Amino acid sequence: MYDFELLVIGAGPGGQTAALRAAKLGKKTAVVEAREPGGTCVNRGCVSTKTLLHSSSLYRAALEGAAVGVHAEGLRADLGEIFQNKLRVAQTLSQGVESMFKSAKIPLLRGRARILAPHRVEICAPDGELAVVSAESILIATGAAPMRLPLPGMELPGVLTSEELLKGPDRLYRSLVVIGGGVIGIEFASFFSDLGCEVTILEGLDRLLPMLDRELGQNLALILKKKNVRVCPNALVERVEACEEGLRVRFSTRGQADSVTGEAVLCAVGRRAAWEGLFAQGLQPELDGRILKVNRRYETSIPSIYAIGDVASQTQLAHVAAAQGQAFAELLCGLENRVDMRIVPSCVYCRPEIAVVGLTEAEAKAQGIPVKTGKCVMGGNARTLIEDPGRSFMKVLAHSDTGEILGAQLMCLGAPDMISQISEAIANRMTPEQLLLAMRPHPTYEEALSDALSDLAGKLKK
Ligand code: NAD
Repeated sequence: MYDFELLVIGAGPGGQTAALRAAKLGKKTAVVEAREPGGTCVNRGCVSTKTLLHSSSLYRAALEGAAVGVHAEGLRADLGEIFQNKLRVAQTLSQGVESMFKSAKIPLLRGRARILAPHRVEICAPDGELAVVSAESILIATGAAPMRLPLPGMELPGVLTSEELLKGPDRLYRSLVVIGGGVIGIEFASFFSDLGCEVTILEGLDRLLPMLDRELGQNLALILKKKNVRVCPNALVERVEACEEGLRVRFSTRGQADSVTGEAVLCAVGRRAAWEGLFAQGLQPELDGRILKVNRRYETSIPSIYAIGDVASQTQLAHVAAAQGQAFAELLCGLENRVDMRIVPSCVYCRPEIAVVGLTEAEAKAQGIPVKTGKCVMGGNARTLIEDPGRSFMKVLAHSDTGEILGAQLMCLGAPDMISQISEAIANRMTPEQLLLAMRPHPTYEEALSDALSDLAGKLKK
């Protein structure tokens, strides 16, 4: 007889969703968490950065308000208060997670878990006390942690990961060098440049957001340049050194040596699956690269031990972890999960925002899928003209023969709140004509979606 039917390690979006769903389906469930409930998303990731971006965009809007007749005097961004507000939001959500566990009668065991053997987990409480609990199934949902480049000078004070920077800098840096033009790099660059900090982004590949459609990264670079952000693509970072201005990052671009200085350096080059120290000696599940290898039921190579979210997924997104948490719990309880795990929206919270789902034109081409693309450049969209966020557009693509919508790339205000229209269309194999049956209100950003869909429908007819 085990203490629990399911023991979940980690109370982030993945772990919490799995635990709540399993408990609802009747499993005697407990959760172990070493830090704050809510995980990276709430405390050191998605929610924290979006709260900071809310403050910085308000500041920028007030600064630029004179253009629309709003004059602010004595405007001041207080970094301490901005980070305090971020903490307040995180704490509210974290307490919400705790309350949900309480209502679902899920014990929250505080401490660091170590899996001793299948069905046995040791928990080291914050005061150092050790306890061992047993469970029929163990779910690892321990997430990921920022990576540091293995280069000289990366250990210098002032060279920070996103987690360290989110603790709150002691002052507003006059200058910041961001290594990595991926999602985290772009969101921090947006926050600091909004507040007047001189930001340089060093991206190793040929454009910002290299994992997304080319046009998105290219347009974003132009928007950021207008905000005085220096963007250096193809930058091969070599070392960081201390200097009079703070830190100097030496890099080369196509063999040309260059350097840039900043008061601080943010290293945002990806996150590594967090499983180190989780397994007792002699117990090591199979890996798939750096992540834990799992089968379709999220089971690792050790029977009865499962894994979901960033620790076991190539796609490190909170909503993917949550969807996997739900799927895992339902499969464990003998149900079928109906969410299509292949349709994954992804968003970047810069200004204007970016949201994508499904295939890009280049991916379709690489896979030999014939596609047509409909596009709307939003210069004539009334809402976009009113709010003036800079270059905005929507692209939607569909299979040339069947007309089925296969993907979309949106770069405009409100994009993350509109992308699910396309996700639903892909999931239900819909065509542009079908999506055009619905009227879209005026004046909205989504009117541009109708325009992109009409453009696509026209091209499909030819
Ligand atoms: P990322 O993989 O998105 O981007 C890292 C970037 O660093 C890439 O563009 C890469 O080419 C570049 N890079 C790598 N090594 C480099 C080097 N030596 N020099 C210069 N550039 C280098 O990783 P991230 O931005 O750290 O984010 C980590 C994960 O967290 C991602 O999977 C991301 O999707 C997720 N995340 C999502 C959101 C969101 O959904 N809004 C927000 C934050 C993070």
